[in-house]
Order: sequence, then C-alpha cells, then structure tokens
Amino acid sequence: MPGRQVEIRTFKQSAAGYAKSEIPDLQHDDSDLTGRGEAITARSAAAPSGSIAPTPRDVYEGETLKGPGEFQVMAIERTLSIIKPDITRRNLTGEVNARLEKAGLRVVAQKRLRLSRHQAEMFYAVHKARPFYSDLCTFMSSGPVVVQVLEAEKAVVLNREVMGATDPANAAPGTIRREFAESIEANSVHGSDSEENAAIEIAFFFSEIEIVG
Ligand code: ADP
Ligand code: MG
Repeated sequence: MPGRQVEIRTFKQSAAGYAKSEIPDLQHDDSDLTGRGEAITARSAAAPSGSIAPTPRDVYEGETLKGPGEFQVMAIERTLSIIKPDITRRNLTGEVNARLEKAGLRVVAQKRLRLSRHQAEMFYAVHKARPFYSDLCTFMSSGPVVVQVLEAEKAVVLNREVMGATDPANAAPGTIRREFAESIEANSVHGSDSEENAAIEIAFFFSEIEIVG
C-alpha cells in the first residue's frame, strides 16, 4: 500500500509461555520520519521487566487478543479531513471536532490555513471535468479551512459515515453534513474516499513529522 505501513503480526504461545525470541518488538518505528505521506507502525508498551510474555495488560490500543496464546495487531488507518469555510465562518470548528472525536476518530494533525485558488484547484483536480469544479474552488478558497489527519481503525469509512452524504438533504440524521451543511457545495467537511487517496491527500498538506499519533 503506497505510503502506508501497518504491521499485522500473530504470535503463538509455546507451552511454557513465549520464548524470548518470540517477544515482539512493537516499539514505535521512527525510521520514516524524513519521508512524506504516512507510515503507521504498531506501538506497544514493552513487557514489564522480568516478564517475557506480553499479557493483555501490555497490549496497546489497536491490538486485540485473537485467541488463547495469540494476539493480532489491528490496522489503524489515517484519513484526511478538511473543515470547510462555511464552518470556520460560523465559528463551529470545535463542534465538528467534538463529533469526530465522539465517533472515535483521533485528530493526530491539524492546521488552519487559507487555500489560494490555485491550491484549491490542485487539491480538487480530480473533479476538473465536473460542472461544479470552478465554484467549488472559489468556495474552498473563500475563507479559512482546517485541515486535519484523523486516525482510527477503518478511519476512511468511519469518517465518511460521520460526515454523511455529499448533499445534506440526503445525509442521515446526526451526521455532520445533515447538522451543519449549508448546501451541497458548502457542505462543511471533506473526507478522503479511499486509503489510497487518503495517503495522497495527507501528503498534500502534511509532512510525517507534523503527524503525532
Ligand atoms: P464528497 O465530498 O462527498 O466526497 P465529491 O467528491 O463528489 O463529494 O465532491 C467534492 C465536493 O464538491 C463536495 O464535497 C461538494 O463540496 C462539491 N460538490 C459535489 N457535488 C456538487 C454539486 N452537484 N454541486 C455543487 N457542488 C458539489
Ligand atoms: Mg470526494
């Protein structure tokens, strides 16, 4: 997966517990700090000194016990979110963030900026042929936005659920767009639509050193 790295490892317990050679090295890997895009490596507190077997207490969030003597490190995803100018204009940034966080999405990077028209055109280049492209770029550069990286298990799909449908008239009750959007254009939030696009969009705004999980 381009720009993305998630460890999925399963460990088997021997009759006498974990052999020392089987103790997983789950320390955070900072080796990619110079790169752009995202790289997520499973993290875990080291086993307590004197203990050779990871216990459920040692299992970091994102890992789940799989069965007797086995556990698996779950895939934590990242997605790009943009709080759009209709939200910043009405001073509702905190309201949106509260909804993201309540849904289990963790804001691991965030900055407020004003997109130039050119930057908006670059970001939405995929929609260049669509009739709404020009107006969308005008809207996205009409005021401040808050760009953010969200982290969770299945973050891409989870964020799309919390956002709601593109047209607020079709968005489910309780979603951000149903609650806050002004129109199909000024619809409060952007969210990546796939893991691949999330990696590309995150790299558009953030370097890895700005993302702190
Ligand atoms: P989403 O943001 O839900 O992924 P799209 O990727 O299809 O939706 O569109 C990107 C953005 O373009 C939308 O969030 C919205 O701001 C704007 N947009 C989409 N469809 C229309 C439309 N029919 N008229 C005006 N603006 C639109
Ligand atoms: Mg989209």
